[in-house]
Amino acid sequence: MKPTILIVEDDSRNRKLLTDLLTLKGYAVLDAPNGSTGIGLARAHSPGLILMDIQMPEMDGFEVVRILKGDPQTRALIVWALTSYAMPGDEDRIRAKGCDGYFTKPLDLRDLLARIERHFGAHAQTQVTRERPYESSCL
Ligand code: MN
Repeated sequence: MKPTILIVEDDSRNRKLLTDLLTLKGYAVLDAPNGSTGIGLARAHSPGLILMDIQMPEMDGFEVVRILKGDPQTRALIVWALTSYAMPGDEDRIRAKGCDGYFTKPLDLRDLLARIERHFGAHAQTQVTRERPYESSCL
């Protein structure tokens, strides 16, 4: 079965770019243009990875992560933030908000793809226990 990735991103061009790229690479892609749609898809599909834009109107990515991590049904889902924050200390701040990793925009797509491949490689070996041993490899 194809690994499933959920993209939550309000920018339609970014969303389409990531969707097209990840579909081409063989992933099953779900995409949401806002946080509430993203939460619904996360609950319904338990994707193997969520790529979460932080700057979104109405509900920002941190709020979406707070809700997902506060819900026993979705708290084990792995969420990587996509953000233009790239200052020293931002990594700690982003992790403190519950994200399991982050990527700065503009995205380095080759690096992102490589990390996604590694993530699902680790996932394939550990999915029986649903532990989260790959947190430290997310960055
Ligand atoms: Mn945005």
